[in-house]
Amino acid sequence: MEVNCEGCAGCCIDWRSVAPEGVSLDHERRGPYRPLDDTYNLVPLSGDEVRAFLRAGLGDALTPRLWRGERGPSVAVDGRSLAAIDGRPVFFVGLRKPPKPVAPFGLDPTWLPTCAFLDPETLQCRVHGDDLYPDACERYPGDNLALDADTECERVERAFGGERLLDDDPGDLTPLLAPSAVGGRLFAHPDRSRIEGRVARLADGEATREDRAEFVAVAAAAAPGRLDVDTERYERARETVLGADSWVGAAIEEWTERASGAGADGTSDLPPPSLGVVVEASRGAPETPGWDENQDES
Ligand code: SF4
Ligand code: SF4
Repeated sequence: MEVNCEGCAGCCIDWRSVAPEGVSLDHERRGPYRPLDDTYNLVPLSGDEVRAFLRAGLGDALTPRLWRGERGPSVAVDGRSLAAIDGRPVFFVGLRKPPKPVAPFGLDPTWLPTCAFLDPETLQCRVHGDDLYPDACERYPGDNLALDADTECERVERAFGGERLLDDDPGDLTPLLAPSAVGGRLFAHPDRSRIEGRVARLADGEATREDRAEFVAVAAAAAPGRLDVDTERYERARETVLGADSWVGAAIEEWTERASGAGADGTSDLPPPSLGVVVEASRGAPETPGWDENQDES
């Protein structure tokens, strides 16, 4: 597997709004299930990874994803049918995607939902290769190639030309999302009374810090192969998420505020990606190397 990521970041950005007409970007479905939210390219974290983000003080970077219960076992919460195991709504935990000013694929800068850890200027990952770099990102697009599924690299090629997927041999990979991942990467919430109201806000893209903390804490307290959740670990994790005050959380707030006001004051609505220096790096975000020194990093 070999990819050409310079100037791309297609797997880290929601670029549906800038895709040429006729290019289909509807791949968030996993098997028969559709997500409840509208996030594009959510990175599914393992329980170990969720705990690592919490230890690093980055609990405010995480968000859950629930699934619509259109087929198979389900449970109703807030008037929505949710995919469930044994009456417990199932969910992933991923990385938040605030709007950032980015210019992928040679386009002009524009506000697009972008992974919290993507440097908007270099379009490189701020945690690439370190302890927090998610497995799902490190392996991408290997799982797709192993399953003979479409890759984001090929979607970018179809939309904007160029060569992104240079070698499509996945090597010896076991797909990450096997059924045995329950409790390890796929989680089940044990108490629907604690998520009433939260489900509706998640579906509407209006989740609060408390909403996210409720699910993230369950994931942090889960164990592979088990549906039950350790109460003490859950309580500790919830406090950790609620108390998180990282550069990521502060940057997300500022990006969201800037994006909502873009153009409203008569100024340009084409913000420079270099704003990342002010909004992220000045708060302590790790720098990225740029493409002169690192030619294969996304
Ligand atoms: S892995 Fe593929 S989609 Fe992601 S940045 Fe690289 S070339 Fe683009
Ligand atoms: S963690 Fe890094 S590689 Fe993964 S989606 Fe976010 S920016 Fe992209």
